[in-house]
Amino acid sequence: MFDTLTDRLGGIFDTLTGRGALSEKDVDAALREIRVALLEADVALPVVKSVTKQIRERAIGEDVIRAVAPGQQVVKIVHDALVDLLGGDGAPEGLYLEGEPPIAILMAGLQGSGKTTTAAKLAKRITEQHKKKVLLASLDTRRPAAMEQLQQLAIQIDVAFLPIVPGQKAVDIAKRAMSAGRLQGFDVVILDTAGRTSIDEEMMGEAKAIADIAHPHETLLVADALTGQDAVNTAAKFHERLPLTGLVLTRMDGDGRGGAALSMRHVTGLPIKFLGVSEKPDGLDAFDARRVAGRILGRGDIVSLVEKASQDIDQAQAERMARKMAKGKFDLDDLREQFSQLKKMGGLGSIMGMLPGMNKAAKAQAAASGMDDKMLTRQEAIILSMTKAERAKPEILKASRKKRIAAGSGVDVADVNKLIKMHRQMADMMKKASKGGRGGLAGMMGG
Ligand code: GDP
Repeated sequence: MFDTLTDRLGGIFDTLTGRGALSEKDVDAALREIRVALLEADVALPVVKSVTKQIRERAIGEDVIRAVAPGQQVVKIVHDALVDLLGGDGAPEGLYLEGEPPIAILMAGLQGSGKTTTAAKLAKRITEQHKKKVLLASLDTRRPAAMEQLQQLAIQIDVAFLPIVPGQKAVDIAKRAMSAGRLQGFDVVILDTAGRTSIDEEMMGEAKAIADIAHPHETLLVADALTGQDAVNTAAKFHERLPLTGLVLTRMDGDGRGGAALSMRHVTGLPIKFLGVSEKPDGLDAFDARRVAGRILGRGDIVSLVEKASQDIDQAQAERMARKMAKGKFDLDDLREQFSQLKKMGGLGSIMGMLPGMNKAAKAQAAASGMDDKMLTRQEAIILSMTKAERAKPEILKASRKKRIAAGSGVDVADVNKLIKMHRQMADMMKKASKGGRGGLAGMMGG
């Protein structure tokens, strides 16, 4: 699933996350590549336009978190844009099965889309997960052996099946199914309607007539993900004629591009409720926008890093700091603030643990070089031993003052010197980074 896109985006992100600061030009260059990647994945053009616009606004806009590398933040922004595109952050839509039984679920779709298989998969799922009594009924009077196919599947999954009455019309089968459902105490009746090779008036008329009889809680369109934008167009056309409540995308297991999945929601406004992921009766996944976006990006580590940072960092403080940096002002009090923010985020160790490519050995090395939480505390102590004037103007720190500070914070003068040197380097880097448009500790961390 989504292999093409995952590969392409991976390359783009590798370039971005390797940089300290990003300019508007960097973001635009990345966006051009993201656009090509989405188009190659067969995502509909209006969808590509809308999603890249959203990414640009967020990447260049105000809501930047300055405690993570800009490239990493772009990964998170792209992730969020994909989640929105796929239907938002909420829990998976699931099925609406509340109300007086029997509740009808109508399955619609073109022939060969996987409608019959999906009807059986849903029956199995509702039986097992919702603990409901399900009746499967085939209304497909067109495709030879369609009824027998569903009957076989029903036997295989051990779900009740409405007996076949040869020659009966679809609307009459619907009536019979609903009354059997009522009389025999079924909770849910799944009606598998006939498909065609293309949408036609007769099929739509029949589906509407069946809907008028069964008053379905759910009318699900089954579409084959492999047909890409055709699936999207079919869904849109169906929805114009038959009020659908959701979509099921089948053959996701064979779909390396994912264009249909990514375009469906935006184009039709309908939620994707399930994904068909194999031919087997249990090959049906509840659709979860976050999980799918995560799978496309394959950068869960970075996304959770940025989430953690945005939760823990005081935005106002970050903004204040950013303004100071832009003016080239960054004193020792500011440095201390950055240390304490780092500690709030769980310390350098926890941040490094989340970065890709940071293995145990690298973390151990960081700890050995003093880049651990103890070091953060020690640095804070050194700064706290300085007077206000010293913190604001480190230049005045001559030998006698350094000695006093070292004694006050229980370290050697060499440690004080190291801190002052580190501050000077950071201040220089920040001045440079802020000229590129963005700055912050991000630049120091390097991504
Ligand atoms: P219908 O004409 O729409 O009722 O389509 P069927 O349910 O008969 O499905 C057509 C073919 O697609 C069958 O061979 C199914 O086994 C296969 N199929 C359906 N859903 C999936 C899926 O999610 N993944 C895969 N790999 N095959 C599927």
